[in-house]
Amino acid sequence: LVTDYSRVLRLAEEVTGGEPSELERHLSAQTVSVFVDAELPGALDAARRFVSTRARMPGRVFVDPEGLRATDRDDLMNIARTVRRDAIADEHDSFVAEVRFALTVTPGAIRAVPDGHGAQVASNESVSLEQQRSPNALGAAFAAALAATEVFKVALEVPETRAARHPYLSFCPVALSSDLTLAPELPHSLEIDVALIGLGAVGSATASVLGQLPLSGRVLLVDRERFAPENLATYSLGCEEDAANRCWKVDLAARAMAGFDVTRMTEPAESLPRRIDGGEIEWPSIVLSGLDSVEARHATQRLWPDLLIDSATGDTMVGLHVAEPDRPCLICFFPPRTDGPSAAERLAEATGLSVGRAARGDNPLTEEDLDGLSENQRAILVQHLGKPVCGLADALGLTTMEANDYRPAIPFASQQAAYLGVGRLLAHLLDFRRDDNFIQYDVLRGPARATIEPRPGDAACYCNERQDTIGQVRDLRRELRKR
Ligand SMILES: [Zn+2]
Repeated sequence: LVTDYSRVLRLAEEVTGGEPSELERHLSAQTVSVFVDAELPGALDAARRFVSTRARMPGRVFVDPEGLRATDRDDLMNIARTVRRDAIADEHDSFVAEVRFALTVTPGAIRAVPDGHGAQVASNESVSLEQQRSPNALGAAFAAALAATEVFKVALEVPETRAARHPYLSFCPVALSSDLTLAPELPHSLEIDVALIGLGAVGSATASVLGQLPLSGRVLLVDRERFAPENLATYSLGCEEDAANRCWKVDLAARAMAGFDVTRMTEPAESLPRRIDGGEIEWPSIVLSGLDSVEARHATQRLWPDLLIDSATGDTMVGLHVAEPDRPCLICFFPPRTDGPSAAERLAEATGLSVGRAARGDNPLTEEDLDGLSENQRAILVQHLGKPVCGLADALGLTTMEANDYRPAIPFASQQAAYLGVGRLLAHLLDFRRDDNFIQYDVLRGPARATIEPRPGDAACYCNERQDTIGQVRDLRRELRKR
């Protein structure tokens, strides 16, 4: 099985100006050392997530035996090897970076400490760290994602003009603050009733964290696709074996959320309202989405949940849009294009693929996709077999396709987008009120420089013009659920 590193290499190329094959050689030759203080609460959890993420990227991981019981070390190495067989380095390698899930310092190391819902990261050895709160799974996951981001900067020597260096950084994705003690702590257990729509790079990270938090209740999982080898390098769930077995993405998420009462749907989000109004599937009052097209976002909004938290990535940007009743909706945030055909429509027109197929940019082009196309269309597409459809846009010179539809994702960016979404869900569950509905930051610059603001809606949007109708639909669906 050959891992498809195109996303991370494209990003590496963009931030360094290097040549992709040279960058791949460079990154593949690198080893990152991981030290874990098993006594530090959350450290082992964070390390598990970190080695899994590193195994999805070129290069290898060395797990420092110091500070770890042999069984915990074996566990960490197995996690990495399950994702990718050759992800572990032997102890004689030299390291490009050392990550320490510990308070104690060694020269040049990056320390990452889960703390409450969030994390602290320090790359300056003179900074002394103290864990203020008992960390939960979100804090552990956030620490791991921030550590992976710092390693990426070091491994590629990304210039400081493109990537901020943090002598010290702390961030809580619930309070959206550097103060890790601001948001209330989690109770021992919390009951939830949510839908996760889209279980790709972002949604798999959401599922993996929700599954480890002290939550229970009902979860509706929606994704129409199966896990494939090209997803290994960008997702937070799924291993080589899952790719070989072509597991449903909903099944991978269900496996990570074993403590929940799970309903799975492998149909497009567009068919959900019909299923709900037909009484086949219960209406979810809270939805977390991780979607890659405007069309799917609109379809998800038309469920009219009480709370819709949409996480998105674009290159190194991560973003969150939050839609609630009588406030701006996702259709306000992602308006339908009025300036001509959408990116997917344009690609469909240029290639002969259906619009629906062209919109699934993450999926590689298959022989099946070429069925029914003309000889000319086939001739254009056949050379792109096996490559993600979103790359076709560039290859065909459709340069106006940037906009909202096609965004490459690297795991530590998708994870941060997902964790912002989980943080918002916890803020809601903990009754920690926020009036912002838009959050965005560049992972290479860090969450401290995030834009966090209440964004206005569009007065001409359906959500404003049909407020009453939407309220009725919502009530009706809530009633159906009670039966
Ligand atoms: Zn709207």
